[in-house]
Amino acid sequence: MTRLCLWPGCKRTVQARFWGCRAHWYQLPEAVRSRIWAAYRTGQESDGRPLSREYLAAIREAEEWIKRFERSQPGRPVEPGRPTLPGLEW
Ligand SMILES: [Zn+2]
Repeated sequence: MTRLCLWPGCKRTVQARFWGCRAHWYQLPEAVRSRIWAAYRTGQESDGRPLSREYLAAIREAEEWIKRFERSQPGRPVEPGRPTLPGLEW
């Protein structure tokens, strides 16, 4: 079971248990990544039960972070694989 990476505009396909493609996943701050994993329920992508509120909140938090990240990089497309720049922590 696969779906698109959750990074806005990314067209890579990932296993549904992962948030997104490897490059984008590692672009997220560690705090956001660990929150997503902490809320992940094994098998949630295929057990037919709704995603937990915690998982949805963690995903929303990642989205918010990405918006701030992209606003902080005016005119520069985000390159997958580029490490998070220092000073962008929040
Ligand atoms: Zn991606």
